[in-house]
Amino acid sequence: MSPRKPNAERAATAAERPAAKTGPKPAVSTRPRPTRRRAPDPAKHWASYLRRYRPGLVPYVLDALEARYGEQRWERRLDPVSELVLTILTQNTADVNAEKAFEALRAAYPSDRAPEEHHPGIGWGGEGLSTAPPPDWSLVEHAPLPELVDVIRPGGLAPQKAPRIQATLAKIREERGSYDLEFLADLPVLAARDWLTSIDGIGKKTASIVLAFCFGMPVMAVDRHVERVSKRIGLIPEKATADQAHDLFLELVEGERMYAAHVLLIHHGRAICRAQSPAHDICPVRDRCRMVNPKSR
Ligand code: SF4
Repeated sequence: MSPRKPNAERAATAAERPAAKTGPKPAVSTRPRPTRRRAPDPAKHWASYLRRYRPGLVPYVLDALEARYGEQRWERRLDPVSELVLTILTQNTADVNAEKAFEALRAAYPSDRAPEEHHPGIGWGGEGLSTAPPPDWSLVEHAPLPELVDVIRPGGLAPQKAPRIQATLAKIREERGSYDLEFLADLPVLAARDWLTSIDGIGKKTASIVLAFCFGMPVMAVDRHVERVSKRIGLIPEKATADQAHDLFLELVEGERMYAAHVLLIHHGRAICRAQSPAHDICPVRDRCRMVNPKSR
């Protein structure tokens, strides 16, 4: 026979048992729990809208521009660090001025690396760089700031761009141990873009140019020409910011056509769909352009 429990313990146990057996059962709702709806991805939402209401618009535009301006084949133009610095030099200035500043960097801080040929293609607004080695990036990073400002002055906005270039080079060297961005080729596309945009002063546009032109990655660099032409046609919403437009294009354009789309839209913006007085009459996409026909599909 087991020993009896002390009175206090027996009382407590007895007090609990009836409540567990006969007390009111907790109410169990039979209604389905409400599921929290995720906000729709704006880029996916827009792509779906276009597919439904303006089917085939993206390939129509790209085919028409390609027929007018020719097939665009990707080829690397420069090494990634040179492309990045050249792109910083193009910010808020004409490509031809950026070329002058880059040539000045090469002359002031020469390196013994192999010469690079620059084949910029039709999307570029300059004349192309001469064939020459890239600058010595260590000399550029460690140059006295007033000296570097003087060197790149032909490119415009030199007091802003010189420290940006030095900070960019410093970040690459500190994180990678050298001035080398080839590792980006091994990253997923958006991780590579995130790495570049983590550098102060490097936005999605500059990062996308480096990734598209140096590695053939399917990202769209949305400059003022791409943004203007796309909004006029109705490829992207009128109210989309340039930042949003970068992600919209990732949903709209197939990866293998992204590079050509970028080059063709820029060139079309320079040649026909100019900011002032666009030449609608000779435009190859006018039949489906919302600017000339707001109801076009
Ligand atoms: S029709 Fe006019 S506005 Fe539309 S894409 Fe052509 S040039 Fe631009």
